[in-house]
Amino acid sequence: MKFKPANKIQDLQYFGEFGGVNPSISDSSTYTFLSAKTMFDTFEGNTEGCYLYSRHSSPSNLYLGEALAAMEGTEAATVTASGMGAITAVILQFCGAGSHIVSSRTVYGGTYAFMKNFLPKLNIQTSFIDITKPETVEASITADTKMLYCEAVSNPLLEIADIKALAAIAKKHNIPLVVDNTFSPLNIAPAELGADVVIHSLTKFINGSSDSVGGVICGSQELILSLKDVNDGACMLLGSTMDSLRASSILKNLRTLHIRVKKHSENALYLAQQFEKDGLRVVYPGLESHPGYKNMKEQMNEEYGFGGMLTIDVGSLDKANALMEHMQNNNLGYLAVSLGFYKTLFSAPGTSTSSEISEEEQAEMGLTDGLIRFSIGLDNDIERTYAMMKKCMQDLDILETESILKEA
Ligand SMILES: *Cc1c(COP(=O)(O)O)cnc(C)c1O
Repeated sequence: MKFKPANKIQDLQYFGEFGGVNPSISDSSTYTFLSAKTMFDTFEGNTEGCYLYSRHSSPSNLYLGEALAAMEGTEAATVTASGMGAITAVILQFCGAGSHIVSSRTVYGGTYAFMKNFLPKLNIQTSFIDITKPETVEASITADTKMLYCEAVSNPLLEIADIKALAAIAKKHNIPLVVDNTFSPLNIAPAELGADVVIHSLTKFINGSSDSVGGVICGSQELILSLKDVNDGACMLLGSTMDSLRASSILKNLRTLHIRVKKHSENALYLAQQFEKDGLRVVYPGLESHPGYKNMKEQMNEEYGFGGMLTIDVGSLDKANALMEHMQNNNLGYLAVSLGFYKTLFSAPGTSTSSEISEEEQAEMGLTDGLIRFSIGLDNDIERTYAMMKKCMQDLDILETESILKEA
C-alpha cells in the first residue's frame, strides 16, 4: 500500500489530562519518582515509560516526536531545539576522532560550515561531492566513512537526491544514510525510500508560522534511545532541548501541514511555469527542464506536489537585490531568509544562507550571484501575484535583459 504520511498524522489520537482535544502542555523540568529504586533504574538506561528530567524527555516533546515519526514512517523520533541541534547531534553520535563523512556539496550553509570548519577541530573530515552522481559518492567512501549525508531537495540549488540509489550504496558499505528533508516534508518520505535517519528543521514548513525554531531526528528506536542515553547520548549531553511550550505549538501547526504543502506546491508550480515561459532561468523540480525532474517524479508522494521552493537567476547580485527590494515594496513577500511562511520569502543565497561557502566553491557548484531563492507563500490569488511580480521585473528591465534570457 502506498505510504500516506498525512493520514499517519491524522490517525494519532490525543486525549489531554482532562479530556481536552490537545494534550496538556508539560510545565515541569523535573519529575517525581515513587521509589528510589525506579530512579536508579531510570538513570541506568531503563527509561521506558518514565520521565526523568526534561532535558531527557517531556510529555509534550514525546507527543511531537511521535507525530513526526508517524509522518516519516520511522520507529521513533526525538525533537531538538533547532534544525542545527538535530544535525550536529546526529553527526556527533555517529562520528568520532578519525571519522570521515561523505556529504553532498549542496547542503544548508550551517551544515556545510559545521562540517567544513568545526568538525576538523575534532579530526572529523568531510568529502563534499556531487550527490547526483552515485559513482562519485561510492568512490568517496573510505574505511573511515561513518555516514552518507544529503538533503532530499537541496538548499539552495534544489538538486534531487536519488535516495534509493544512495541507500543501496550506504547499505553495501554498512554506513547510515542521513537525509535532511526540510525542503520536502510530505513531498518525499526518505525513510520509505531507504534512508536510515531523517532530519528536519521544524522552523520551516513543518511549523510554518515563522515563530519557532526547532528540529527533529527520525530513525530507529535504537538510534533515538542512544541519542537520549544519559551516559553518551548526543541529544542528552549537548543539551539542544526543545521547550515544551514550543513542542505543543509546533504539534498543532503540523496538523495542517498537508493543506499548506499542497498550496505551496500549487503556487510554486504555477509561478515556475509562467517564469519559464517568460524566458527567465528558473529552477523548480516540477519543471521538465530540471535535471532531477524524473527522479523527483519517481520518489515523490504525488498528491503534495513538487514543493514550495524555486529559484530564478536574474544575472547579477545588484539586479537580484533591486528586484527583492522592489517586490517587498510591492508587498509581494519579505526579503528574509527561512522558508515555509504564509507570505513568500526571498533571499540571495550567495550573500546570505550560503555565504559560509567560499566564492570559488559557490561557482563550482553553480551557485551564481544573481540567484534568488523563493519560498512561495500561500497566496490565494497566485495569478495576481504573478502579474505583479512580472511588473516588478519589467520595471527593472529584468525581463528585457538579453543575457538572462534562455535563448540568449
Ligand atoms: C534552516 C535549515 C536548517 C537549520 O535549521 P534551524 O532550525 O535554523 O537550526 C537545516 N537544513 C535546512 C535544509 C534548512 O533549511
